[in-house]
Amino acid sequence: MKKKHLAMALSRLKGFPNPKPELEQYRTPGNVAAELLWLAHSLGDIEGKVIADLGAGTGVLSIGACLLGAEKVYAVEIDENALKTARENARSLSIDCIEFINADVSEFSGRVDTVIMNPPFGSQVKHADRPFLIKAFEVSDVVYSIHLAKPEVRTFIESFVRDFGFSITHRVTLPFEIPAQFFFHRKKLERVPVDVYRFERV
Ligand code: SAH
Repeated sequence: MKKKHLAMALSRLKGFPNPKPELEQYRTPGNVAAELLWLAHSLGDIEGKVIADLGAGTGVLSIGACLLGAEKVYAVEIDENALKTARENARSLSIDCIEFINADVSEFSGRVDTVIMNPPFGSQVKHADRPFLIKAFEVSDVVYSIHLAKPEVRTFIESFVRDFGFSITHRVTLPFEIPAQFFFHRKKLERVPVDVYRFERV
């Protein structure tokens, strides 16, 4: 499979039926998901690996990881409705390597080879991304995550990651398209730059 085909397959999946602003339910756009997954795959972090997708939402990242040969993906998501969509999305592509877990990310326990996640950006609830980073650093030595590409966010990430004994090995900046699904969005399509990170335990 090529990166372009992966992006296309992931863009075709169903989005959030009733997106909840307080949970920052923006689906990961196909291009961004494919970029993250392709980077992870090229570095040997997907094929044959046990993976956790924290805040799995509609399942885009989990499904992409399965398409690229993951052994197993734990898709952890607090919202039962989103998980229902994720299950439908997985079924539509006959994917059966995902274990769906309806829980707060802080309740997930175990060890995985790789964490992949698109956490809330923290624009609705301040610091909403922190429990995701903390859990990711607890359960894995390799973490891929998406955050806003803003100077203050970068400064925060750099020091937070260091405090947990991790380093940033990769950072790729991409456009992330958010459809006008919430009342506070004025434009039809909001395009915000995001950073896709790879963190590794030092
Ligand atoms: N990658 C997914 C979703 C990204 S949006 C997709 O593309 O569809 C972030 C997701 O995190 C949302 O689905 C939201 O419901 C979930 N979420 C927010 N807080 C959470 C928490 N504390 N525990 C588990 N999931 C959470």
